[in-house]
Amino acid sequence: MKAAIVNEFKQKLEVKEIPVPTLEYGEILVKIKACGVCHTDLHAAHGDWPVKPKLPLVPGHEGVGEVVKVAEGVTSIKIGDIVGIPWLYSACGECEYCLTGRETLCHDQLNAGYSVDGGYAEYCKAPANYVVKVPSGVDLAEISPIFCAGVTTYKALKVSEAKPGDWVAIYGIGGLGHVALQYAKAMGFNVIAVDIQDDKLDLASELGADLTINGLKCDPIQEIKDKVGGVQSAISVAVTKKAFEQAYGSVKRGGTLVVVGLPNDELPIPIFDTVLNGVSVKGSIVGTRKDLQEAVQFAAEGKVKTNISTEPLDNINEVFERMEKGQINGRVVLTLE
Ligand code: NAD
Ligand code: ZN
Ligand code: ZN
Repeated sequence: MKAAIVNEFKQKLEVKEIPVPTLEYGEILVKIKACGVCHTDLHAAHGDWPVKPKLPLVPGHEGVGEVVKVAEGVTSIKIGDIVGIPWLYSACGECEYCLTGRETLCHDQLNAGYSVDGGYAEYCKAPANYVVKVPSGVDLAEISPIFCAGVTTYKALKVSEAKPGDWVAIYGIGGLGHVALQYAKAMGFNVIAVDIQDDKLDLASELGADLTINGLKCDPIQEIKDKVGGVQSAISVAVTKKAFEQAYGSVKRGGTLVVVGLPNDELPIPIFDTVLNGVSVKGSIVGTRKDLQEAVQFAAEGKVKTNISTEPLDNINEVFERMEKGQINGRVVLTLE
């Protein structure tokens, strides 16, 4: 089968033929139809993070497609089902986190397109118990980004504990941010979109943002304080430290900063302000299978729409270059025959 492979960090991916994965007990084989390109895949290909991915690696954790084979022990999925294979590829199912509905914190989890091969390939295997079904009649390229960008931001908004009517700021209107703001609207929040590029902010307005701010043209903290007196929650899905600092600064007393984007950097937090203002800072990592089912349902009902452009697998290096330069508005989805 054809797959895009990271052989070495910071080198171009190689698109070549490799064997179709063989199934073990409880696993299914998915013929991938579409796989979104997440900024995490670029971090993986660059070896950006303290925990490195396996090499060689087939990236991709937004792979969706049709189940073409099921191994012994599979009861929940049948051949012909349409499923997606998310970042949370598997977890132990037995630890304190798995048992309390916090499986994304499991120490023994595996991650698609990071610790195991993912969706940048014609076929990808996965444990049947950790894939999530796609409802019928849904466009597979359009739903693909929901498997990471969607579930991650939906969960981050839950973690923020904002209530309907509250003001929420989304910092970084990229692949994650452009769906984040739609989940936020669907959940009844007033939304401020912050980015440093006007085309991203135009998209944010089209998608329903109540206020947009270009962080290069003014100080978003001051602007947010002036306009709404600070936000109840700020979600940072950008990849620069500056955005996180500004996101922290735009939270009002008693509010929450949710940290989602993953630049390999520090976030210095002023102790005095955090204490006196009673501000919470929380990390949020993807979402559970239940969160993913809910996030997919929002999209299937048309409450959230991804802004995608499709590219063949062969163009992955060019897509990564555009992502590095910030030239992707929404998400690029790789499509496979
Ligand atoms: P992306 O490249 O599509 O989007 C990043 C956006 O941030 C761009 O629109 C860019 O213009 C904007 N930006 C850059 N600097 C900014 C600034 N100073 N202020 C405001 N906006 C700014 O990336 P993506 O696919 O959306 O991923 C974003 C980050 O989230 C990555 O680091 C990725 O690894 C991480 N991520 C985390 C999780 C999680 O579970 N925590 C899940 C998926 C992705
Ligand atoms: Zn992702
Ligand atoms: Zn566990």
